[in-house]
Amino acid sequence: MSDHVTVIPVFDEAATIADIVARALAHGSVMVVDDGSTDGSASAAAAAGAHVLRTAGRRGKGAALALGFVEALGLGAQRVVTLDGDGQHDPDDIPRLLAASAAVPRAVIIGSRLADGGASMNPARLQALRVAGFFIDWLTGQDVGDTQSGFRVYPRAVLEAVVPRRGGFALETEMLVRAAAAGFAIREVLLSPGRVASRPSRFRPLRDGTAVTAYLMARGLGRWARDVASVAAALVRPFTPDRFRKRHREMHQFATPYRYNHAAYATAMGAFVLDRTARTWEGWWRDPRARIMRVAALATVALPALAVAATAQSLLGRREGAGPDLVSPLIRSAFSRERLAAALPERAQPVADHGTDYDVLVIGGGPAGSTTATFLARGGLRVAVAEREVFPRFHVGESLLPAMMPVLDRLGVRERVERHGFLIKYGAAFHDEESDLGYRFYFREGKPWPPYSYEVPRAEFDRILLEHAAGQPGVTLLQPALVEQIQFDTTGATVDVREG
Ligand SMILES: Cc1cc2nc3c(=O)[nH]c(=O)nc-3n(C[C@H](O)[C@H](O)[C@H](O)COP(=O)(O)OP(=O)(O)OC[C@H]3O[C@@H](n4cnc5c(N)ncnc54)[C@H](O)[C@@H]3O)c2cc1C
Repeated sequence: MSDHVTVIPVFDEAATIADIVARALAHGSVMVVDDGSTDGSASAAAAAGAHVLRTAGRRGKGAALALGFVEALGLGAQRVVTLDGDGQHDPDDIPRLLAASAAVPRAVIIGSRLADGGASMNPARLQALRVAGFFIDWLTGQDVGDTQSGFRVYPRAVLEAVVPRRGGFALETEMLVRAAAAGFAIREVLLSPGRVASRPSRFRPLRDGTAVTAYLMARGLGRWARDVASVAAALVRPFTPDRFRKRHREMHQFATPYRYNHAAYATAMGAFVLDRTARTWEGWWRDPRARIMRVAALATVALPALAVAATAQSLLGRREGAGPDLVSPLIRSAFSRERLAAALPERAQPVADHGTDYDVLVIGGGPAGSTTATFLARGGLRVAVAEREVFPRFHVGESLLPAMMPVLDRLGVRERVERHGFLIKYGAAFHDEESDLGYRFYFREGKPWPPYSYEVPRAEFDRILLEHAAGQPGVTLLQPALVEQIQFDTTGATVDVREG
């Protein structure tokens, strides 16, 4: 058996399934999960060489996929490829998806149908995809284009961490949202657009669309509850006794030079308070989390308007090509995935295909290696990072200095580091056991970095940085991969790497 299994859920796909199975088999093991077909799909798939399972009657695509996941894990699969049985996905793209999965092992890989920006997609479907995609991006914190594509690679770790609870078409949405919540990345491979299914989609807008929307709304409410709680905590934080005492001390330091002139002293105090208040509010306004909240709030309040516009449009006969297009402008302005993506910490760019030639090889995926690889790839170079250890791996050192923050900003990983929940520290204390002397200080305000930093278990911090680097277009992560030998010649360098 190959280290991956391709799972194909089918319901009455006798016309296409044998050909799809035969072509998928060229790239590894294939399992067909027959969801109550009555047209002989199961026997056609078995005759073509697939391992066939059956659900207990018609249970829906989600149940068929869930059954396939369990069986594939039981067979020891390290990755599960899913594709639809209606011919809309090309099995010959499986190697490209697997290559992307090897490059970003802790990611769900999606075969995206949006290489042409959606031009070859049914316009109504594209609009639904944009709205659902907006909320999925918001919930996952990742910029994913084709959130509804069923052509995917799930690493074993994702399927072990996320056991789906939803059926039907909501399963695919649920897998993305929960995989991201469990710390997995989502990456896309742009596929040649324009492949069409052999029959109309079985997606029932009312039933399936409602199930997906209900799921997203439930998750969205949870997210808003957490965001509101974090805003409330941020509003209260400046008034905690520690912060209050510290600010008070600074205010008196600031005003002390004017203490012999009552008017100047009072003015200095007032100026200090105004400056601090303005800086706090400015910090909140610019905070990436606040930016994301503003974009998501607009989309959330625009949902009823979208429902009204969609209903009005269908009453006006827009489907037949007549009447104004009310929905597209609203989606563009209120559900702009681009605006949301600009605020997201993690830009999930499509994974580039790669050969074995690179402009740069970075040996070691520690903080230095992952940072270097990210910046070099942003400069347009094709970079391979070889890391001999499987992360997370233990590493000594745990304390970050505040001056590290602008580097995390430039890498675009700060929000992810913040979200991880590392311990925040506002200063440091040194203690010499022999002399019992100690020294404590607080990080200063007014620097080009914030007056705090993080205490990080390095295993986790280094993993975040390396995953972030591996997600950059142009970076290929080889891991575990030990660089054993390098030979330089006039054309470059040849490197011996022992993988696995
Ligand atoms: C006792 C001690 C305490 C410290 N405390 C702190 C602290 O509190 N705060 C702080 O910021 N820093 C601290 N440091 C420093 C910090 O650990 C280093 O600055 C940091 O790890 C350097 O990162 P790096 O990426 O250069 O190297 P590393 O993190 O060591 O990464 C190098 C990577 O290269 C890989 N590698 C090596 N050879 C090969 C090969 N041939 N092929 C493939 N991969 C290979 C290794 O597996 C490793 O993952 C401390 C260091 C020590 C020794």
